[in-house]
Amino acid sequence: MDCVTRPNSLIYALIAFCCWLFPVAASAVVPTQNIQSDFTKLEQFQVGYFVDKTEKMSLSDIEKQHFTTSSNAITLGVTSKTTWVKIKLKNTSITPIKVFLHDPYAYHNHLLELYEVVDGKLTRKRVLDMNRKEIQQWMFHGTSIFDIELPPQQDKTLFIKNLAFSSQWFSFNLYNANQSKRALIGQHSDISLIIGMLLALIIYNFLLFFSSRLKEHLFYACYLIFGGCWVAFSNGLLAGWFNIFGVHALDWNLSLGAMPICLLLFMANIFETKKKYPIEHWALLATILMLVVSTFYSLFDVITALKYSSTIAAIMMVVSLSVALSMVIRKHPISLLFLTGHVFFVAFSTLEVFFYKGKVEFNYLNTHGVAIGIILEAIMLSLIIAYRVRSLEKLKATQAELQLLASTDPLTQLLNRRSLGLEASKLLSQDKQTQFPLSVAMLDIDLFKNINDTYGHTLGDQVIVQVANVLRDQCRRQDIIARYGGEEFVILMPKTELEHAHSLAERIRQTFEKVSIQNDQHQTINVTLSVGISEVDPKTADLQAAIDRADKALYEAKHSGRNLSLLYAG
Ligand code: GH3
Ligand code: MG
Ligand code: MG
Repeated sequence: MDCVTRPNSLIYALIAFCCWLFPVAASAVVPTQNIQSDFTKLEQFQVGYFVDKTEKMSLSDIEKQHFTTSSNAITLGVTSKTTWVKIKLKNTSITPIKVFLHDPYAYHNHLLELYEVVDGKLTRKRVLDMNRKEIQQWMFHGTSIFDIELPPQQDKTLFIKNLAFSSQWFSFNLYNANQSKRALIGQHSDISLIIGMLLALIIYNFLLFFSSRLKEHLFYACYLIFGGCWVAFSNGLLAGWFNIFGVHALDWNLSLGAMPICLLLFMANIFETKKKYPIEHWALLATILMLVVSTFYSLFDVITALKYSSTIAAIMMVVSLSVALSMVIRKHPISLLFLTGHVFFVAFSTLEVFFYKGKVEFNYLNTHGVAIGIILEAIMLSLIIAYRVRSLEKLKATQAELQLLASTDPLTQLLNRRSLGLEASKLLSQDKQTQFPLSVAMLDIDLFKNINDTYGHTLGDQVIVQVANVLRDQCRRQDIIARYGGEEFVILMPKTELEHAHSLAERIRQTFEKVSIQNDQHQTINVTLSVGISEVDPKTADLQAAIDRADKALYEAKHSGRNLSLLYAG
C-alpha cells in the first residue's frame, strides 16, 4: 500500500512546488476592494493588469481594454515594459477615508503615473518621473507612496501606468496612515545583513591578498564587491539608503557583468588552469572575453545589454559549472567544495533570472535568489580559502624543513660546509668592521682511521657526535660551528683576538681529552683533537684563505705529535 501511495504523494508535492514557483494567471473581472471605516491594510488582493505592447495608449484607450486579474504582486518579464494596473476601491463607510498606495519596488521603474477615475471621469493624475534628480513628493527611499481620498460610499478606480527599463514587476499594497508609516520601518534589513556579511568577507580577502599577494584573493574580493553592489541595487538598498533609483541607478547594472568576470578569474587562479588545464583555461578566457565585451557595450546602451544579460549569464554558468565538473573528474582537491558552492549560486540565481523573465512567482526566494546564492557560495568558498591558507602554511613548513635539512649535518646537527660559507657571508654583510678581529679554528680528530678500524664505524660516528657536543658546550653564542668534512670541524669566532681564540681552542681540546667513550664491550676509549688557528684578514675578508692557514697550523700540530692547538705562524 505504502509503495503505491508514496510516488503519488511525491508527484503531488512536485506539482504543489511547481504551482508555488510558477504563476498561474487568472482571467476574470477585476474585483472591487471594499474599504471600511476600520481599514488598516491590504497586502494580498486582486488587481488587474494590461500590457500595452504599442507603448502609446492613453487612459481613454486603456479604459476600453480587458484587464487580466492577478495577485497584487506579479512579475511579467522583459516584454511588458509598459504595463497598466487597475485597482477598484469602494469606501463602504459613511465617513471619508484616506488610503496610501505603496509600491516598494518603484525604484527600478522609469515612470509611474496614477490616474484616479470616478464614474468614468478622471479626477486626479499624478506623475512620478524617475529621470528627475530631485526627491519627489511621491517617492520615499525607493518606495512610491500615493495618498488617495475616498469620499463616503464612493467607488474609485485607480489606473497605474508602470514604465520599466527592462523587466516588469510590481507589488501594490494599501495602508491606512498608521500602517503606511509602519510598512517603511525595517525595510531592507535582511539585505543589509547580507551586505554586512559580504563586507566582512571582502575585508578578509583583501587582508589575505595584502599578506600573501595571491591574486585569487583579490579576484574573490572584487567578485564579492560587484556581487554586493548588484544585490544592494536590485533589492532596493541603494534606493533605500541613498535615494538612488530609476535612471540614476541604471549604471549599477554594470556590476552584473563585472561580477562573473571576477569569478572566472578566481577560478583560473585557484585551479591554476593556465599551467595545468589548457582546455578549461581557454573556455574560461573565451567566456571572460564575452563578458568584457557585453559589459563594455552596456556602458553605451545598458537597456539593450540588460535584454541579453540573462542569456549571457546562462552561458557563463554553463561554462563555470562545466569547468568545475571537469576539475572534480580530474580529482582536483578543492573542486568538490567549489562545485557545491557554485551549484548553490547557480541554482538560486537561476530563480532570480526566471523572476526577471516573468516565469516564476513573485515570492521572497525568487526575488532574493542572487543574494541567497552568493552568501551560500561565499560560505563554501571561504572553506576553500581556509584550505588554501592551510596548504600554503604546510608548504612553507616543508620548505623550512627542507632548508634546515640542506643546511645542517644530519649526524651532528651542526652547520655543514656549504652553510658555513653562507653564514660567514651573512655575518660579514651585516656590519663588516664590527666583526673583526675574526678568528678561525680548524679541528681534526687524531688517528681517527685507527678508531674506525679497531672499534668500527658506528663507534667512530659516536666519537664525531661527542666532538660536536663539546664544541656546542664550550663555544660562545656568537661563534659559528660547522662540520667541515668527515672528522674535521671549523669554528668561526667573531670579535675574537688570536690569543683569545687560542685559549678557547685549548679549552675545547682539553675538555675533549677528558671525555671517555665506551664501546659495546665496555672498553673505555680516549680520543684527542688537534687544532690549527688563524685570523681572517680584515682588508680582504677572505674566509677561505684564513681556513687554509688554519689547516696549515693544524698540519703543524699533527706533525708536532697531535693533541695540540697551534697558531698559524706565517
Ligand atoms: P690524523 O691524526 O693524521 O688526522 O689521522 P687520521 O687517521 O684521523 O687521518 P684522517 O684525518 O685523514 O682520517 C680521516 C678518516 O675519517 C677517514 C674516514 O674513514 C674517517 N671518516 C670520515 N668521515 C667519517 C664518518 O662520518 N664516520 C666515521 N666513522 N668515519 C669517518
Ligand atoms: Mg682528517
Ligand atoms: Mg684525523
